[in-house]
Amino acid sequence: MALIHNLGFPRIGANRELKFAQEAFWKGEQTAEQLLARAQGIRQMNWQQQSALDFVPVGDFSLYDQVLDMSFTLGHLPERVAALSHKGSELDQYFRVARGRSAHDTDCSCVHAGEMTKWFDTNYHYIVPELSAETRFSLNPERLLSQLAEAQQQGINAKPVIIGPVTYLWLSKSQEGSHRLDHLAQLLPLYSELLEKLAEAGAEWVQIDEPALVTELDADWKRAFEQAYHQLKANRPKLLLATYFGTLQDNLQLACNLPVAGLHIDAVRGRAEVNTVVDWLPAHKVLSVGVVDGRNIWKTDLTRALDWLEPIADKLGERLWLAPSCSLLHVPVDLDSERQTNSLRALDPELLNWLAFAKQKLAEVQLLGRAINEGRASVADALAENRAAIISRRLSDRVHNSAVKAAVGGILSSFGHRQSPYVERIAKQAQHLKLPLYPTTTIGSFPQTAEIRKTRQAYKQHNLTEAEYRRNIQAEIERAVLEQEKLGLDVLVHGEAERNDMVEYFGEQLQGYAFSQFGWVQSYGSRCVKPPILFGDISRPKAMTVEWTTYAQSLTDKPMKGMLTGPVTILNWSFVRDDQPRKESCLQLALAIRQEVLDLEAAGVNVIQIDEAALREGLPLRRAEWQQYLDWAIHCFRISANGVQDETQIHTHMCYSEFNDIIEAIAQMDADVITIETSRSNMELLDVFEAFEYPNEIGPGVYDIHSPNIPTTAQMVNLMQQAATRIPAQRLWVNPDCGLKTRQWEEVIPALENMIAAAQQLRASA
Ligand code: GLN
Ligand code: ZN
Repeated sequence: MALIHNLGFPRIGANRELKFAQEAFWKGEQTAEQLLARAQGIRQMNWQQQSALDFVPVGDFSLYDQVLDMSFTLGHLPERVAALSHKGSELDQYFRVARGRSAHDTDCSCVHAGEMTKWFDTNYHYIVPELSAETRFSLNPERLLSQLAEAQQQGINAKPVIIGPVTYLWLSKSQEGSHRLDHLAQLLPLYSELLEKLAEAGAEWVQIDEPALVTELDADWKRAFEQAYHQLKANRPKLLLATYFGTLQDNLQLACNLPVAGLHIDAVRGRAEVNTVVDWLPAHKVLSVGVVDGRNIWKTDLTRALDWLEPIADKLGERLWLAPSCSLLHVPVDLDSERQTNSLRALDPELLNWLAFAKQKLAEVQLLGRAINEGRASVADALAENRAAIISRRLSDRVHNSAVKAAVGGILSSFGHRQSPYVERIAKQAQHLKLPLYPTTTIGSFPQTAEIRKTRQAYKQHNLTEAEYRRNIQAEIERAVLEQEKLGLDVLVHGEAERNDMVEYFGEQLQGYAFSQFGWVQSYGSRCVKPPILFGDISRPKAMTVEWTTYAQSLTDKPMKGMLTGPVTILNWSFVRDDQPRKESCLQLALAIRQEVLDLEAAGVNVIQIDEAALREGLPLRRAEWQQYLDWAIHCFRISANGVQDETQIHTHMCYSEFNDIIEAIAQMDADVITIETSRSNMELLDVFEAFEYPNEIGPGVYDIHSPNIPTTAQMVNLMQQAATRIPAQRLWVNPDCGLKTRQWEEVIPALENMIAAAQQLRASA
């Protein structure tokens, strides 16, 4: 008998109920009781949907973030928040860590939020626990115990889920002078106590998540695993040690031999290791095989899964558990929602038949369980249906486009090369563009006003004709151009009024992309994203931006910068195909963007920016695999950018502030100009560009677009002077950190006035 279980379920609710409850509470429109009641409702709904499983996760729900929850369970708050513990309820404190509190609040409990960072290689962001030599922990098991009781009351066979002690420390950051692992000895007795309490409350199994095991661990961290689990083995609940998001590689033996009752492995990304684990795993241990992809939205090929699972089931018998590869937090809730919409852009039945969201993925796990336990014949109809869906996708000519495959096959190495090296091009560009020293520009978007959003929405809902829509957007472009001319910017942009989102806009115009209506996935807190679905070979039926850009150019004599999203970013912010390597899809995107670049150039656009905001996000978990990713990612960028004449200036933009470990790749992109986020790092970020002798032009952002504050001219002059100590002034641009779409015009105009005044001062004193 194989058992079936789940590692975690999305907690936002099928209609993002949690988001709306959180935001209403934060605005003071709802009470804490109302928020908690809504949260409980979602938990109960989730458990009910999972009730057919042998074990249902409890404690995976979170009001904001599961790592922050664990910090609270361990009584571990940042000192600045702990010092305010007398102010407000525990819920207030919780959100204080999550979101910070500004000085404008009347209760004077202002405090900055915990830092947020990416959860492994997902697009989910967690609140980083902060450690210092003074850190002390104290157990606060209430949340878990009450949710466990709640689940039991509902008649659920509950399996509490916690983050393991080693991964918890691995996710933390420690201040100078304290090592993260120094805290392990103090932490373990609390974990023991917690496990005992859970056993007392009736938990037979506890899932203890240790995904750090799929990363490169040095000897200290490996020893920490040994130490932790040898100490925790004395406790009563059986531990299911959960690893996911990758392969164990040289941690495989360690993971197999830790003294726990069971091990969960990601059998989607780590398929090749499953049999080795089966062989290595001591005979008394359960092996949970994560066979259904928790990171993607495709149906599992159940027949194929059974083909390789059955021999494993024969070997393991009762010791086999089946589950999704990881928590289902990273996929949307329920595909059925998509069927209930009458939107014109709804997914069509053919595509729907290829997809599975969280609820459907659990049904797949159940089916696999039945097939293993009762024989394939017991689920023959469902298997046949699944088979038909898999084959229809495999053979569909919506997925396969031979012309696209041929185009990728025909990529020549010359596609990745500009005609001349940077020094020669930049001289030609200078002649052509006639820009001053310290040229000024912006990153692309201007404020997305309520009217702009209304215009787009009305057009989508067919309440605006094509002609009306075009007139409205043109009016917005006119406004943006006029403002920029008044300000005296050197390189203008059209302002992106027609774009809802930098990926969706392009996805909607590319063949091979589809869009869900309710496919929301939590990114952090109440923020959700709806990644587009890249399902087929990518082609570009017609130009995507040329009309808007040339219209904008027609309004000014200044150079107008064409604005595109790069292939790597489009890829990394989408759900992508699982039937071909990511690289292959990226090459197809690169060719589509290349065509757009060439069309823009042919239409007289001399400056083209290709945003790669998400280049970093695609980095694999293991450093050993970075170079391979960077090689194809940079190659794709270069294919998209490098078809142009020397006179055409290519810009790229990246809005993050970590370049140390990828500077070589950034230089290989060979964009004529790169604009980056630097204002908050006081230009220190440029050190790495200086040390690397980065040869091309750089626009280090001089103002933080995330803040409503208007930067002063003096501040920006100062930042640029600091930049000029690192990069020669001839290669510096003056621009904000990122696009201005989230700001108001009333903020943008004075800020840009000051920015231009700063550039003028810099020129005058050069
Ligand atoms: N061109 C985009 C904008 O200005 C860039 C956004 C981004 O880098 N995230 O909005
Ligand atoms: Zn940006």
